Amino acid sequence: MIEVSRDIYIYAFFVIIVTAISSFILVIRSLVGGSLPATSVRLYHTYYILGLAGWIILGIKDTRQLSIDLTASSIFYITCSFVLLIAVVEAVRKWWSILLISLAHLLVMTISVYSSNDVAKILTMSLYALSVYPIIMYVSARRAQEIKNMGSAIISFAAFFIIIGVFLQIYSLLILKNPHFAYGVILITSSNSYVLVGIGFLTSIVINEQKQLTSQALKDPLTGLHNRRGMDYAMSALLGQSQREQTPISVIAIDIDFFKKINDSHGHNGGDVVLKYVAKTLSMCSRSADICCRLGGEEFVLLLPRTDVKLTVQVAERIRLLLEKQEISYGGHIIRLTASLGVATQYGAIDLEQLLKNADRQLYRAKSEGRNRVCVDEVVEPLQVESI
Ligand code: GH3
Ligand code: MG
Ligand code: MG
Repeated sequence: MIEVSRDIYIYAFFVIIVTAISSFILVIRSLVGGSLPATSVRLYHTYYILGLAGWIILGIKDTRQLSIDLTASSIFYITCSFVLLIAVVEAVRKWWSILLISLAHLLVMTISVYSSNDVAKILTMSLYALSVYPIIMYVSARRAQEIKNMGSAIISFAAFFIIIGVFLQIYSLLILKNPHFAYGVILITSSNSYVLVGIGFLTSIVINEQKQLTSQALKDPLTGLHNRRGMDYAMSALLGQSQREQTPISVIAIDIDFFKKINDSHGHNGGDVVLKYVAKTLSMCSRSADICCRLGGEEFVLLLPRTDVKLTVQVAERIRLLLEKQEISYGGHIIRLTASLGVATQYGAIDLEQLLKNADRQLYRAKSEGRNRVCVDEVVEPLQVESI
C-alpha cells in the first residue's frame, strides 16, 4: 500500500494556503481603481499581504522544524485581525476610533511579545480573538441581512469559525493541557477563515456589481424612475396578483404640454430640470406600491395597483394641479409648466398593453381638448367587486 507521509500533508497545507492567499491578492489588485470603495480594497489588500507574510514565516518554521517561538506569528495574527476589523466595521473608520483601537492592539501585541512561552502567547491570541471576532461576526451578519448579500454572510461564518476554534484552544490548553492540539486548532481555524474571508469579499463584490447592473438596466438614469423594462419587471408580479384577487389596476399617462418650447427657451438642461421635477412630483403623489415610470422623452406613466378609477382620477388631478402651480427656477428664470393626463383602469385579467393604450388614448384626447386636463377612459367594472 502506498502511503503519503505526514510531511507531504504539512507541505500541501502550506502550499494551499499560500497559493489561495496569493490568488486573492492578485484578484484584489486587479480591483484597484475600479468602481469599488478604494479604502475597502486597500484594507483587504493589506490584510492578505500581511497574511501571506505570516503564513510564509509559519510555513518555513513548521516545515523546517525550526525552534522559533510564536512571537512573529502572533504579531501577524493580531495585525491581520486589526485590519479585518477596520475593513468590516465601517463605523470604526473615523481617525479617533482607529487610534483607540490601534492603541488597544499595541497593548495586546506587547503582552503577547513579552509572554514567557508559546502557551501564554496562544492564550493571549485566544482571548484577543474572543474580543474582536464576535464584532466582525455580528456586523457582517447584520450587513448580510440588511443588503441581502451572501458574501457578508460568508465573512460572518469565517469569524464564527474562529470563535469556535478559540473555545477549543482554551479547552485544550487549560483542561487537556495539550498545547500542540491548541496550535493545530489555530492553524485549521485561521487558515480556513483566511480562505472564507477572501471568498466572502469577492462574492460580495460580484453580488453588488450584479445588483447595480440590474438596477441600472431597469432605471431611467435622468430621473431614477423605472424605464420600460423596469416597468415590465415590476408589473409581472402585480398582474398575477390582480387576476387572483380580481382587483383593479389603474394607469395614469402623463405628457408635459409644449415641452419643446421649454427646451427651446431654457435649453436641454433646463428641460432636464423640468423632467426631474415631474418625476419628483409623481413620486410624491404615489404610494409605495405604485410604480412610477418614465417611458421616454417627456412621457411618464404611473401604475396604481388595487386602485379604482375614482381614486385614480383624484391622484391624476392632484398631480396636474401640483405641476400647474409649480414655479421652477432655472438659470435666473422661472419655468412654468402644465401637463395632460389620461386615466384608464382594468379589473381582473389585465392586458397591460391594452391598458397603456387606453390611457394613451385619453392622454391624446386631453391634448386635443386643450391640454392641462385629465381625461378618463370608460371603465367596465365587474359585477361583484369588493370596495377598496
Ligand atoms: P405636446 O403638448 O403636444 O406634448 O407638445 P410637446 O412639445 O411636448 O411635443 P413633443 O412630445 O413632440 O416634444 C417632446 C420633446 O421632448 C421633443 C424632445 O426634444 C424633448 N425631449 C425628449 N427627451 C428629452 C430629454 O431627455 N431631455 C430633454 N430636455 N428633452 C427631451
Ligand atoms: Mg409633450
Ligand atoms: Mg410627447
